[in-house]
Amino acid sequence: MDDFGTTIRSAEETTVRRDLAAAYRLIHLHGLEDSIFTHISARLSDGPDGTHRFLLNPYGLRFDEVTPENLVTIDETGALLDDPYGHGVNAAGFTIHSAVHMARHDVACVVHTHTVAGVAVSSVKEGLLPLNQWSAQFFGKTAFHDYEGIALDLDERERLVRDLGTKFVMILRNHGLLTCGRSVAEAIKLMLNLERSCKAQVAALSMRGLTLDVLTDNVAAHTAEQYQSAYDKTEASGEDAEWAAMLRRVEKSDPTFAR
Ligand SMILES: [Zn+2]
Repeated sequence: MDDFGTTIRSAEETTVRRDLAAAYRLIHLHGLEDSIFTHISARLSDGPDGTHRFLLNPYGLRFDEVTPENLVTIDETGALLDDPYGHGVNAAGFTIHSAVHMARHDVACVVHTHTVAGVAVSSVKEGLLPLNQWSAQFFGKTAFHDYEGIALDLDERERLVRDLGTKFVMILRNHGLLTCGRSVAEAIKLMLNLERSCKAQVAALSMRGLTLDVLTDNVAAHTAEQYQSAYDKTEASGEDAEWAAMLRRVEKSDPTFAR
């Protein structure tokens, strides 16, 4: 706080807030939300007393109502540190996110969705098939976690983190999708590509009587590495033309977004 009671934010926090709010807007613009449920979380730098801090959406708002200013700051248990909108957060919904954030300090953002295509792919034993270049990028890079029911007890959190390992993408069987990113932008781009992959798989499997042309392991693995090096290059350089374009889309859809 300064002398006038105004919260002073670092440039880093200002960027994380803008990116996270934009992530909610993008999930909305792509029609990937499940009412007010499922969440996108982002890590902030630790507080002065060492508290781990995260940003989450205010509970009850639609994703197209989330702004950089109404995001809620919480600790790893979901306890409120700053709640400008005054409606708290869905602490139960943060359970998966906090498990990942506490285990993976290389992860800046976690995106979780329940979409028809994502849930459909999560409901088949084979999971995501390398049928095209969207899905080939996930070949060998996707973790799986078995469904255990809605309640996430501490035991399940341990299994979830163990199942994720060092990966950034996880199919939650019979449940939905989860992506992580070294930035908010990376987590969202992975989710949008994962969602497209699931939609394409559902569409391909609907062509009864035709034969699926599944890529060979070699080609799929090669494609996955090509995508990975592109993601690595973007994260290392900090220059991300695709994310800049996505931010412009958000601002065009709602010019008041960041005011
Ligand atoms: Zn869920």
